[in-house]
Amino acid sequence: MRKYVIMGVQGSGKGTQATLLAADLDLTHISVGDIFRWHVKQHTKLGAQVRRLVAAGELVGDDLVEEVVGERLRQHDWNYGFVIDGFPRNRRQAEFFLESYDIDGVIHLDLPDDEVRRRVLARRLCSRCGMDYNLIAHRPEVEGRCDVCGGELVTRADDTPEALARRLRDHHDKIDPVLELFRRKEYVTTVDARGDKASIQQTIRDRLGLPPYTAPAPAA
Ligand SMILES: [Zn+2]
Repeated sequence: MRKYVIMGVQGSGKGTQATLLAADLDLTHISVGDIFRWHVKQHTKLGAQVRRLVAAGELVGDDLVEEVVGERLRQHDWNYGFVIDGFPRNRRQAEFFLESYDIDGVIHLDLPDDEVRRRVLARRLCSRCGMDYNLIAHRPEVEGRCDVCGGELVTRADDTPEALARRLRDHHDKIDPVLELFRRKEYVTTVDARGDKASIQQTIRDRLGLPPYTAPAPAA
């Protein structure tokens, strides 16, 4: 049974890295972002609350995150372990988490703030089907148009420089003390998040003493 926490600022690729790690090792990927996105899509009451916060450039409150994650962890549906992404969000949650679960390691994906700005401000979203684009890494074939449905690509409401600066500040205020706590227990491995995703995944596995990463063969 392996239990990992993955941490990193938005745009650091932690969702991607967690997915790669989980798929190969049969770990359950518990993504706080995915859980909330599901609620938004399903138009639940929680989803409406999240939508309002995001539109205002705010983060979802820690207590709400704790509630949702607690509920998810109590399902105990993992046989081989989990990788959790988006939690813990503050020191108190981190302390509680360490008391409740034997953590095998904390993966910290490190990305400088100016690179976060470059990546996040390049994000676009199809106004019709919701497909994600990125003007650096995943450009649409026709500028401003969705490859899938031809819908107009727009900037997400919360991806303005001002909202991002606020989120970055919030992130450091909260997450730096959590990392500090984990570091004192010697759990943390910090990985540079600026490389390509396969080599970042390989570095993570080397550091954690896990089997090597084999990229899936490209589709014929
Ligand atoms: Zn579309």
